[in-house]
Amino acid sequence: MKVRNPRTGAFDHAIAPLDGAALAAIAAGLRARQPAWEALGPEGRAGRLVALADAIEAGRPALQAALEADTGRRALSAREIDTVTASLRRWAARAPALIAEAAVRDRPGAMPGVTHSVSLVPYPLVGVISPWNFPLLLGLADAVPALAAGCAVLVKPSEVTPRFIRPLMAAVEAVGDVPLAVVEGDGATGAALVPLVDFLAFTGSVATGRRVAEAAARAFVPASLELGGKDPLLVLASADPERAAAIALSASCRATGQACQSIERILVARPLLEPFLAALVPAAEAVTLNWPDIDSGDLGPFIFAKQAEIVAAQIADAVAKGARVLTGGRIEDHGGLWLRPTVIVDVTPDMAVWREETFGPVMPVMPFDTEEEAVALANAGDYGLSAAVVAGSLAEAEAVGRRLEAGAVSLNDGALTSLLADAPKTNFRLSGLGPSRAGDEGLLRFLRRRVLYAQGGTPLPLAAFSEAQRTPA
Ligand code: NAD
Repeated sequence: MKVRNPRTGAFDHAIAPLDGAALAAIAAGLRARQPAWEALGPEGRAGRLVALADAIEAGRPALQAALEADTGRRALSAREIDTVTASLRRWAARAPALIAEAAVRDRPGAMPGVTHSVSLVPYPLVGVISPWNFPLLLGLADAVPALAAGCAVLVKPSEVTPRFIRPLMAAVEAVGDVPLAVVEGDGATGAALVPLVDFLAFTGSVATGRRVAEAAARAFVPASLELGGKDPLLVLASADPERAAAIALSASCRATGQACQSIERILVARPLLEPFLAALVPAAEAVTLNWPDIDSGDLGPFIFAKQAEIVAAQIADAVAKGARVLTGGRIEDHGGLWLRPTVIVDVTPDMAVWREETFGPVMPVMPFDTEEEAVALANAGDYGLSAAVVAGSLAEAEAVGRRLEAGAVSLNDGALTSLLADAPKTNFRLSGLGPSRAGDEGLLRFLRRRVLYAQGGTPLPLAAFSEAQRTPA
């Protein structure tokens, strides 16, 4: 299977997607190694995860080069590696206490004489299926806490960005005893993975997520789904329009908008519309591309050529329905495909650019007259991943933020969930299913609970359940 280079457009790499039999053999090998991994205990595993972080650092040049070729961006690739090694060290530090705190020993309960103890039993094999927008980061976001919990992990990253897999596996193999396999494959490989695992963590689109969840349900495999979004930013009348414009630009366009928690709809209090656009448009025009020099500029190329087509079609649909493009709007073909930050006004809710996930640096802006109207517009639609509110005070932003149908809301900033995973968040509506990836739950979801009820007194005799002893009222 040929793989396209996002900077040049050339198909300069190839993978051989694993078939079901090869995948099943890898899954069986991981299962065989899992008991020894679990037996290391949280502290033992923490030491091995730190060793993996060190090995990733040691192999950094090859991993960096592969990620750069996968994504067409250099600084963000370095950031991905940093985030993953930090995550390995963070979970290594947190897991032992977290697992100890969650366990219960000899606790009295509702029945005199009976105590209970709860132990945490890892799912033996966790499967991960991940997308192309942050290949290393999203390939390992679920894998690291699952390993820390004591599971073996089988990861199937996107076929669009597979170059990082070999240097990553070189680091895993250098450590030796971490039961993690990251494999090359496409959608069929992903489909074959689902029934082979005991828990599935999927990140990707709603359409694929639905198929994966259905397959997981048939196989009785619990699944965590992290899916798409159409995150709104609300700019209230009390906001500073220049600050709001800077937030909108950053939260919409970082990583070329190829982030699930990108701001993709901007609602502005009508009196602020003009000053907001007057700040946003020149700021958008000042943004530069990382082409031809990868070491310069703000925005990388579209990683997936088809995504550029989707974005172009949304812009064309908006223009056909009466919207105006104030800046940007044209895909630049330099072999790879780029788009400068695009500001669109006269947008209506029936336009694809307002309703459907864009995954590009596009900012449709719509004015509103009342907060009521803004909340209703923000809450319309199918998604509920994240949202943002900018106001003159945090208290005012919070009051509106609490009314939004989203699992995370940034106040007086935007897309903070692209930087933080401190606290649990639920993905509302079609944006996901299952427990939180963020916060302590990110690890605890990989542990089943086994309770032991210990009878220290006299077991109830059958007579205690007799029909005869009940006296009618
Ligand atoms: P995608 O759904 O097309 O693919 C995701 C993964 O699923 C890939 O590895 C693919 O090979 C695999 N796959 C495809 N068909 C499959 C099948 N039938 N069974 C099993 N696996 C299958 O998504 P994408 O285009 O790679 O990524 C972009 C999407 O991911 C966007 O919608 C974005 O919002 C979402 N995303 C969500 C988050 C989040 O945390 N919520 C983070 C990043 C990206």
